[in-house]
Amino acid sequence: MYVPLLATDFLRHAVQQYGKKTGVVDGDKRFTYAQFGERVHRLSNALIDMGIKKGDRVAVLDTNSHRLLELHFGVPQIGAILLPINIRLSPREITYVLNDSGARCLVINEDMTGLVERDQLKSVERYIILEGDEQKPGSIPGERYEPLLEGSSAIIEDDFGLDEQDPAEMFYTSGTSGNPKGMLLTHRTLWLAATKDLFFGVANDRTVYLQAIPLFHANCWRKAHMITAVGGRHVMLPQFRPALICELIEREKVNYMEMVPTMADTLTQFGDLDKYDLSSLERIVIGGAPLLEGTQNTLMEKFPWCVIHAGYGMSETSSCGTTAHLKEHLRGLPDEQKKVLMRSQGYADMLTRVRIVDGNGNDVKHDGIAMGEIIMRGNTVIDGYWGLPEETKKTIIDGWLYSGDIATMNEDGYITIVDRKKDIIISGGENIGSVEVENVISSHPAVAEVAVVAAPHEKWGETPAAFIVLAENARLTADELIAYCREEGLSGFKIPRIIEFKADLPKGGTGKVLKSELKRSLWK
Ligand code: ADP
Repeated sequence: MYVPLLATDFLRHAVQQYGKKTGVVDGDKRFTYAQFGERVHRLSNALIDMGIKKGDRVAVLDTNSHRLLELHFGVPQIGAILLPINIRLSPREITYVLNDSGARCLVINEDMTGLVERDQLKSVERYIILEGDEQKPGSIPGERYEPLLEGSSAIIEDDFGLDEQDPAEMFYTSGTSGNPKGMLLTHRTLWLAATKDLFFGVANDRTVYLQAIPLFHANCWRKAHMITAVGGRHVMLPQFRPALICELIEREKVNYMEMVPTMADTLTQFGDLDKYDLSSLERIVIGGAPLLEGTQNTLMEKFPWCVIHAGYGMSETSSCGTTAHLKEHLRGLPDEQKKVLMRSQGYADMLTRVRIVDGNGNDVKHDGIAMGEIIMRGNTVIDGYWGLPEETKKTIIDGWLYSGDIATMNEDGYITIVDRKKDIIISGGENIGSVEVENVISSHPAVAEVAVVAAPHEKWGETPAAFIVLAENARLTADELIAYCREEGLSGFKIPRIIEFKADLPKGGTGKVLKSELKRSLWK
């Protein structure tokens, strides 16, 4: 029997099977799945009453909130396309995204109305205002979200004739090089992306998940749908503040969370960490950027009872394509080797084929040494970029997505990223992967955060430069760090010639370090 796979299947199932269970917690608000489902239906009906139709783009600017989660189901339910926008983009970029996508409706937190240049918008006809914390009247006129829901029916009878190949969501890249690029995800893509990690047994109905990764970033790495699918509990985190995170973990007995490495560093350095009962946590997954040895060590020290591992993916693969679970038959390896595997980018999931290829498109040896570009193919990989056939042709070649990431693969299928292709440091003709240098520096106890980028060098062309944030009350000089790198066996040409200590590192909307900005400061 062919029944289309729809993103809204998850909510229907949660409402039917877990209706009385608290499914969503947001600050002091708690919603059972029945209540959550009712709100989603009201939202869908409100959108229909506003004239939103199948295929229309509904853009949203909000932090992680129950409303943003409701939009994840209420918009695709009627065949419209949800476009969650990264709130850290500049107003110019947000305007670009709204115009490029042809969004018809903008749902916006009233505290964020300053992000929108309303007179520059070409396609937006309707505005919905999400009541903000500051309760100040917004500068954008529009329908207010709560009254809109109250005035709409909670009954949905139509199936809207949807097919699994219909688009359900749209995302844009962060646009660090040029304009952000848009991509469409179909209902089928979302369905498969949400469920493929269940092969690893990561979630079930006892899962209490902290939504720490922004939902505008690949649906909080797919968890908007996955947690609903299994009838788990969503705990919304509007801002990455360590005290709030600890309070929520303790109060809600959170047992699963995911972070980018810089979030993990911020959390483990929080001075009051020991004052909270965080014993409910079972799984911490790190992705978005390399999990460095130093970050892994500190996480293991602070959360010794947790399973901690990395995952790798891109917006173009609907988040993860590989995950660093420890395969059962490798459990007997020495601890150090297991740690290396669990901080690597991991191995391909059921639906993703992963290859590492040289410049001619041939597979490199799977010996953990030979490097090549990661290419991926699978059911959760996009078909192409929105309105950019040339970019698509450059990125998807013969049915394989070229990631722009350089990695090795070992004989067990685990891949290890050496660097992004554009960030590799070429010094005197030798390639230096910034990740190797960062790993060594991060393992120094005085280092809280590190980023290594290419600096210009008269003789060698390029040389590594390290930007470092020290741990609280720690002291370290450049000479001491250089001596440490030598002791740790880093080859001379890989040791940074430029070492800058900073109060913080520039970060993007998902908390990843913006290496492009650091580089720019060196290449003026
Ligand atoms: P961007 O960060 O470029 O805006 P994405 O959010 O789609 O876009 O990030 C995808 C990129 O993030 C990957 O191509 C890779 O370079 C990096 N990345 C993601 N996860 C990991 C990881 N676990 N280790 C190393 N790099 C990662």
